[in-house]
Amino acid sequence: MTVHFHEEDLPAGVLADGPIAVDTETMGLQTPRDRLCVVQLADGKGDEHLVRFGPDSDYAAPNLKAVLGDPDRIKIYHFGRFDIAAILHYMGVMAAPVYCTKIASRLVRTYTDRHGLKELCREMLGEDISKQQQSSDWGAPELSDAQKDYAASDVRYLHRLMDEMNTRLVREGRMELAQACFDFLPHRAQLDLAGWPEIDIFAHV
Ligand code: MN
Repeated sequence: MTVHFHEEDLPAGVLADGPIAVDTETMGLQTPRDRLCVVQLADGKGDEHLVRFGPDSDYAAPNLKAVLGDPDRIKIYHFGRFDIAAILHYMGVMAAPVYCTKIASRLVRTYTDRHGLKELCREMLGEDISKQQQSSDWGAPELSDAQKDYAASDVRYLHRLMDEMNTRLVREGRMELAQACFDFLPHRAQLDLAGWPEIDIFAHV
């Protein structure tokens, strides 16, 4: 298990075929205001790749964009709504098709309202991840080892979580509903960017 750190783009050919786990770190939660700083990727074979962007980046990153925009690669997220919007806004790529472990969790873990990544890793995989660096300065010129470890751990377990979630989605007869939600997620992210961020367009009032 190795964490690979890259500046401004992913090297070509470092990822195995198949679904790819994706996460982002940004300067905050207001996507148009708070720039995209890091994109993390994992192919599920044990290594993680971090791609860091500087404050003046043009986000050209052709290798990374090719992976994110590949229609034959499922992108596995935890709360993909945020990451998809950030990637679309800063890189101009729709990083789909999508699988979201948070949506899957909401559909099968109806016995709890705790759907954070830390809780899912603990309950479903017996793995403990730290969230200590979550609110740190991702725009700093040098990322600390603690930040890199944290960023990598956010993509490290998503393949295993997807497998566990799929078992439960099948068991509960909700696989089709989950897929419909995953398929809508890119559109939900576009609504966020287009001016309907916290508005439920399906609500009565
Ligand atoms: Mn993260």
